Amino acid sequence: MPIYRAPVDDYRFVLHELLELEKQSDLPQFSDLSQELIDDILAGAAKFCEEVLQPLNQSGDEEGCHFENGVVRTPTGFKEAYEAYCRAGWGGLGAPAEFGGSNMPMALSMAVNEMATSANQSFAMYPGLTGAAASALIATGAPWMKEHLVPKLISGEWAGTMCLTEPGCGTDLRLMKTRAVEQPDGTYRMNGTKIFISGGDQDLTDNIIHMVIAKIPDADGHIRDDLSTVNFFMVPKFLVGEDGKMGARNGVATGGIEKKMGIKAQATCVLNFDDAVAWRLGPKPTPGEKRSASAGMAGMFGMMNTARLGVGMQGIAIGEVAAQNGLAYAHERRAGEALGGSAEPDKPADLLIVHPDVKRMLLHCRAFVEGARAMAMWTTLNMSIAHSSRPEAATAGLLADLMTPVIKAFFTDMGFEAANLAMQCYGGHGYIRDNGVEQFVRDGRINLLYEGANGVQAMDLVGRKLGRKGGAAPIALFGLISGWLGENDDATFAKPVKRGLDALQQATMWLAQHGPANPNDAGAAAADYLRLMGIVVVGWMWARMAKLAQAKLAANPPNAQFYKDKLVSAKYWMERMIPECPMLLERISAGSATIMEFG
Ligand SMILES: Cc1cc2nc3c(=O)[nH]c(=O)nc-3n(C[C@H](O)[C@H](O)[C@H](O)COP(=O)(O)OP(=O)(O)OC[C@H]3O[C@@H](n4cnc5c(N)ncnc54)[C@H](O)[C@@H]3O)c2cc1C
Repeated sequence: MPIYRAPVDDYRFVLHELLELEKQSDLPQFSDLSQELIDDILAGAAKFCEEVLQPLNQSGDEEGCHFENGVVRTPTGFKEAYEAYCRAGWGGLGAPAEFGGSNMPMALSMAVNEMATSANQSFAMYPGLTGAAASALIATGAPWMKEHLVPKLISGEWAGTMCLTEPGCGTDLRLMKTRAVEQPDGTYRMNGTKIFISGGDQDLTDNIIHMVIAKIPDADGHIRDDLSTVNFFMVPKFLVGEDGKMGARNGVATGGIEKKMGIKAQATCVLNFDDAVAWRLGPKPTPGEKRSASAGMAGMFGMMNTARLGVGMQGIAIGEVAAQNGLAYAHERRAGEALGGSAEPDKPADLLIVHPDVKRMLLHCRAFVEGARAMAMWTTLNMSIAHSSRPEAATAGLLADLMTPVIKAFFTDMGFEAANLAMQCYGGHGYIRDNGVEQFVRDGRINLLYEGANGVQAMDLVGRKLGRKGGAAPIALFGLISGWLGENDDATFAKPVKRGLDALQQATMWLAQHGPANPNDAGAAAADYLRLMGIVVVGWMWARMAKLAQAKLAANPPNAQFYKDKLVSAKYWMERMIPECPMLLERISAGSATIMEFG
């Protein structure tokens, strides 16, 4: 049976010692935050995830979801676990108090998201999407929706989904066919098919609020092939009156559930909208208004950005749980002898953990997971600062924006790599279902694909985020890292971080010079550039954490091993990941000519 121990000590290190969360009391949501409160939340979430969600992970994968007579049933035990999740209030941890939430900072809701995903990714996605739908309704919904629908989403009594994808349209939303036509009473009637909708139907909640994008036809009834008439809608499974009362079934039917490689306990649904009653979100666009000017669409993009950060956390989560299992196995299984001579001569063979190659694989996972966790938490803090009145609010917003595609794509790539390496530590036994580690590979694979495939994240970084506002975001990032290096030039890992930063700056310059003249150069460089930025920012996090760990070790603390382990992981990142930076720069600067000859 696979194991899982939530990384509470690591979260305490990142939140208290690295980011000093409790000292940020001027930020909204931070005023009542104490170290004790943070620790209680982390410990409570850890216990719930370890004791309630993790035991259902393997059985949920084996049983999967069922679809019979148009009804979806989640695996045995999911309903009870969901009720316990809602009773404990986990779904509303980060939601505003006025809607029944606990108003805690995003850092904590993302930390709980990571733990729940490690324990049971399929389960964690049901409440995860509900939280995203609630935030979108708070941003764009009519007052009656905020009064009656949002509290039900936050309590978990109802669930939410995000419906973008169609059979002919995933990345390219221009190809969307779903249409919504306005009615005399101001509501819309929606027709079309959405596919791959996570939690599109389930037996956990009484109602589901679908957050849907669809096109509004022109006056002649035609829908355009561009994005200009795309709008954002709220479509409940069961109709809801403006008094919040639930009525008859709406015209949304579940066409089926997908048979998938992983996350089998998560219902991925085909939803057919057949004259479904829909409410358009945000103020009515004026004729000719572009989508970017629509508050409704802004709400949808806000929902997607939060969801992208959430998917990045899924990458960390899968890496964490897989690595824990790989390490436990390496301390159990015996094969071969240590290269310098047997470590336990009285035993028939040594433990796997003596072998440098096994250590390499597991340390790779550890250095990624803990470095990525620090970077993700630093980004959530920037998001909180962006919503404050601090003078650096605008810069913090730009940095969070810049990091979002990097977190989504780099962390899910690396999380999948970590799951594969953990499985490799098991040898052939890793391929056998009963041992449980192959589930992490299958579950973690989706994270690279949904919420915008990783290649598209790289295009977003290079094509949009870098150049926005005259390059203000990369300039701010480089300034921050250079500033730290200037103040800490004697830090143990200042030199490798500087090497990585130099490569990143040169790559940015190369893109600025070549991208506008030849967009294929930017497209061909995008994935390598995103990885380069991820390696450098995580490297900077490791340099900061190492400095902290050294200071702590000087005081001879009782948990000295924790800090010694941090130094080993930091060193690994500098020795084994930073050297990729000049190589990535060389690949980026090779341009697109060869690649464009293919196909
Ligand atoms: C299990 C599961 C759950 C999902 N949950 C949801 C959900 O809840 N809601 C929802 O709306 N959708 C959901 N999706 C859909 C998912 O978000 C899409 O599959 C994804 O966005 C990619 O779209 P696509 O499959 O149409 O791929 P395509 O758009 O056909 O892309 C195929 C490949 O081409 C690349 N590509 C495409 N366009 C470009 C470009 N311009 N530049 C560079 N590369 C490009 C992509 O990166 C990708 O690698 C889910 C999918 C799965 C499998």
